[in-house]
Amino acid sequence: MLKLTPEKIVLASGNQDKVREIGALLADLDFEIVPQSDFGLTEAEESGLTFVENAIIKARHAAHHTGLAAIADDSGLEVDALNGAPGIYSSRFAGIDATAQQNLDKLLIDLKDTHEATERTARFQCVIVYLEHETDPTPIICQGSWEGRILFESHGTNGFGYDPVFYIPDHHCTSAELPPEVKNGLSHRGKALKQLLTALQPN
Ligand code: IMP
Repeated sequence: MLKLTPEKIVLASGNQDKVREIGALLADLDFEIVPQSDFGLTEAEESGLTFVENAIIKARHAAHHTGLAAIADDSGLEVDALNGAPGIYSSRFAGIDATAQQNLDKLLIDLKDTHEATERTARFQCVIVYLEHETDPTPIICQGSWEGRILFESHGTNGFGYDPVFYIPDHHCTSAELPPEVKNGLSHRGKALKQLLTALQPN
């Protein structure tokens, strides 16, 4: 798949935490990444039923309004004991205007009868898409996941969202206890972005 790498790409996210993480991961590239907020754009409505659909909707919205190539991600937490919830609804699990803390509190309440660590398995999922232009019929679609389990209480203050309760067995801590550069090297978003970098690399 041949894609032209433009000088400027709009990042279709209004989530400042994600903009920071994605910006850090793409910092060494030859092209400039501009958050859509710099164009006064707000996020598109996430009306899809999958991470892939939502990421494409967001990227297409940003490409349409800016005339630029666009990158968008859609991500969330899948908890096995909750049949994959909150999934694509991770940012609005406790309601449309819920705060990250309210979403996290609801998660712990929903899991209160799930006592065994082995039953609290979960993973973060991330899909990142790149659209060369609004009507690009062959988006680059990259996916990364990160396995862990949900603790009973919060630990750590780094990161965002569900990080304080997402325990990574290999590191014996939550993702909120990892330094940002370590999280970026391990995370679902980091993995998806590495695939995107490879796909966009001129050869
Ligand atoms: P999105 O902005 O629609 O993609 O929603 C992503 C939501 O998933 C965030 O608001 C968090 O609730 C959750 N999430 C995704 N990635 C992470 C992460 O790296 N750490 C913690 N929570 C995350």
